[in-house]
Amino acid sequence: MIEVPSPNHGDRTAAVDVLVLHYTELPLAESLAILTDGARPQRVSAHYVLAEDGTPYRLVPEDRVAWHAGRSGWRGREALNGTSIGIEIVNLHGDRHDYPARQVEALVALCHGIVARHPLIVPRNVVGHSDVAPKRKIDPGLRFPWATLAAAGIGLWPRPGAGERTLAGDLPAALQLFGYPAPTAEATASDIVAAFQRRFRPARADGIEDGETRGLAADLLDQVGHRP
Ligand SMILES: [Zn+2]
Repeated sequence: MIEVPSPNHGDRTAAVDVLVLHYTELPLAESLAILTDGARPQRVSAHYVLAEDGTPYRLVPEDRVAWHAGRSGWRGREALNGTSIGIEIVNLHGDRHDYPARQVEALVALCHGIVARHPLIVPRNVVGHSDVAPKRKIDPGLRFPWATLAAAGIGLWPRPGAGERTLAGDLPAALQLFGYPAPTAEATASDIVAAFQRRFRPARADGIEDGETRGLAADLLDQVGHRP
């Protein structure tokens, strides 16, 4: 762990129960420079930056609030910075290349430590920026190894055959029950469906409510104890 303290943090007044994963879209040095710059009009930070070679950098202590999520919502709560840990993962390729294996290994180790220190971060509360800020944000992207993380106990992933399951009722309502923000004029129901697909069915994130998407939602609801 390399310490690169950022001045961009605030007081914690609530317990941490969410882990938000991001990608930087910028090289390591540039990412560290922005996330530790106390003079920008919009000051930003994260608790950790994870380099492509797997080296973790600590910018903000976990008992301080870092400024990474912006306008965001999950499971009916908004402004998630106050209750979350944020990791910025260096990735220059957006959705075009897989994350390097050694970076994924290091990410799993980093996440294991975080959830061990914050037991309220249950698997359904391990989220991407695109989950908590649909349409506005698309990181950590279509290539993010959610299935690998879930296999290591970090976050959730649909079980085999999930896509054939039946979901009773309205898909946007089901997604909201799982955790996604309610549709608004800015991020419509279709945008929320697309955010869910980016995460759980990246092969086609078109925002269309097809049977497979409904089945995946049913399985995930079932995994968190809601009857789908
Ligand atoms: Zn982000």
